[in-house]
Amino acid sequence: MAVHEKIGVMSDELIQWRHALHTMPETAFTEYETSAFVAEKLRSFGLDVHQGLAGTGVVATLQRGRGSYGAVGLRSDMDALDIAEATGLPYTSRNEGKMHACGHDGHMVMLLGAAKYLAENDTFRGTIHFIFQPAEENEGGGGRMVREGLFEKFPVQSVFALHNFPVMQEGTFAICKGPMMAAYDVFTIDIIGKGGHAATPQNVKDPILASAHLVNLLQSIVSRDVNPMHAAVVSVTEIHGGTSYNIIPDVVKLRGTTRHFLSSVQDRVESRMREICAGLSASFGVAVNIVYERRYPALVNTDKETEEAIRAAISVSGREKVFTDITPVMTSEDFAFLLKEKPGAYIGIGGGKPRENGLLHQSRYDFNDRILPIGASYWATLAETLLPK
Ligand SMILES: [Zn+2]
Ligand SMILES: [Zn+2]
Repeated sequence: MAVHEKIGVMSDELIQWRHALHTMPETAFTEYETSAFVAEKLRSFGLDVHQGLAGTGVVATLQRGRGSYGAVGLRSDMDALDIAEATGLPYTSRNEGKMHACGHDGHMVMLLGAAKYLAENDTFRGTIHFIFQPAEENEGGGGRMVREGLFEKFPVQSVFALHNFPVMQEGTFAICKGPMMAAYDVFTIDIIGKGGHAATPQNVKDPILASAHLVNLLQSIVSRDVNPMHAAVVSVTEIHGGTSYNIIPDVVKLRGTTRHFLSSVQDRVESRMREICAGLSASFGVAVNIVYERRYPALVNTDKETEEAIRAAISVSGREKVFTDITPVMTSEDFAFLLKEKPGAYIGIGGGKPRENGLLHQSRYDFNDRILPIGASYWATLAETLLPK
């Protein structure tokens, strides 16, 4: 089998929806127009639509058969990014400075396509909750949906998600059992010294010099404090300080992120960062304030559900196009919050054409419309195999 025939004939309609969504990118928790579009489509298929979880979240339910059939959650993200679009496409962003540069417009349409097909065809028994979440990027909208009672209101045995990866060949799939994406923390460090004339360093406490040492010291955490067999990343991504050639500033601010899979490594990274900041303070006579915030947990696929995802992917794309043992990555994903509550699996779908369409989070990125029916068929096949007639 490949793409569901009845989904294949919907291709033009799916492309229209995707282009419509692409014109209306909205970022974390402000997905008003987007969620209205999604809810309207789901209602038009005859589903029960619930709005309001995590503000703009949408959950639509499709039930077939009575009695003790199972229930499954299928999740898409809805949010866009703060990027000024540079694609020049006819369906380019209408919202200045915002853009669907991570393909969440395509994710919504693949799940909508599956919902339409499953609503129109009597091919399963049980309950499917189609979950459309806000704020996947940075702000943890999935976590907020869970905290606001997602699984109490919409109980499921398992939950699944899909993300496009343009670097993989079109229509391939990639997944692994266990940890697949890292936990994501952020930090802000203020180094507060005493500024003054650049030519009289003996009278100042220089936060610039301290910050230069700090960046180096933080790199010793991964190289000296973490077991080399356990992955971790510490990245300083911002340094702000100073106004002129001849003034040493009072304050330098640094920000950045850490990544890891194990909570023991996370604890070690955080505690070493705090110790290094305390030591820096003593060494340079500056005050060092660190705010360390744990954002997303690691994304961990459960074994049985990973196998189910693999089976569905193989039936759509064939065995040779499904990579089942990929190396985990240090990027993060807030579907991890849903997987902390329920068994499930997250799978990547190859977008292909990175030269023409760009890469994720680039201003000239565009989702590859050719994979819309493939992704929708994956969802439909997964639902049909998890909830057989
Ligand atoms: Zn993204
Ligand atoms: Zn994304």
